[in-house]
Amino acid sequence: MNKRISSPKRMQDVIRKHQFTLKKSLGQNFLIDENILNNIATSASIDENSYVLEIGPGAGALTQVLAGRAKKVIAVEIDRRLEAVLADTLQDFDNVSIHFGDVLELDVAQILAQECPPGTSVTVVANLPYYVTTPILMKLLTGGLPIKTIVVMIQKEVASRLQADPGEKSYGSLSIAVQYLAEAKIVMTVPKTVFVPQPNVDSAVIRLDVRPQKKIRVDDEAFFFKVVRASFAQRRKTLLNNLMNNFWSKERKNDLLAAMETAQIDPRRRGETLSIEEFAALSSQLQKMKE
Ligand code: SAM
Repeated sequence: MNKRISSPKRMQDVIRKHQFTLKKSLGQNFLIDENILNNIATSASIDENSYVLEIGPGAGALTQVLAGRAKKVIAVEIDRRLEAVLADTLQDFDNVSIHFGDVLELDVAQILAQECPPGTSVTVVANLPYYVTTPILMKLLTGGLPIKTIVVMIQKEVASRLQADPGEKSYGSLSIAVQYLAEAKIVMTVPKTVFVPQPNVDSAVIRLDVRPQKKIRVDDEAFFFKVVRASFAQRRKTLLNNLMNNFWSKERKNDLLAAMETAQIDPRRRGETLSIEEFAALSSQLQKMKE
């Protein structure tokens, strides 16, 4: 199999040849549109110097395009049943290295250190499995990995969360993590028809450029994200109630109120109305009172 598999017919042929059955539980919706695949690689600015980390190569449709342009593709796939399929579809490329395992569990930093020259910053490109989009993005962004850019296909609804502003319905802890750590842009929206099988939701390709300098100063990022997550734990509750229930206990109500007062944040507000700067101010005050 030395042809691109980016057409419905070729994808079907390769799936049939290897008697592969797609698993919905692993988010296996494979791309079958040459233009979309090329656009994804172009949006990620992949060239002959690029080291690419692909999550979930599936049958290899996107991997083929990336391998044709990049210096090296390092792919991580959870489903070992795809080993024979990928050996077939990628046989013309000697610049692809596949690691089988769950990307959320594997030591990705070590894999990259093994596969890339020292000091390399990789570009992540993927058509992500939708059931684990948020944990994968959080690992890529907060896992201390040498990543400069992330271009991924995700559900359209999650894409809108990434760019959401305070007060918007889709604003949440993922919006804050992404906006704090990266510059986010929606590259294109994608119809269901370019996948096999078709997913239930519309999709979008997003590009995240990791900020070399953070948007604001946060002393302890782990503590900051704990405050953010607690503030969004129950969206209908006030900030004070969320922090009493999910961060500190009710006994520390006065400390919480004092921290909010110093940070000039009304305790009756809801977490979804706070800007990143306000969360940083609040987290910094709470940290001073940590025991
Ligand atoms: N890249 C292929 C394409 O575009 O046609 C396949 C994309 S498909 C949406 C997602 C892929 O991620 C599947 O191959 C699936 O087996 C794999 N996958 C699912 N969960 C994973 C995980 N936790 N770690 C690594 N790969 C995973």
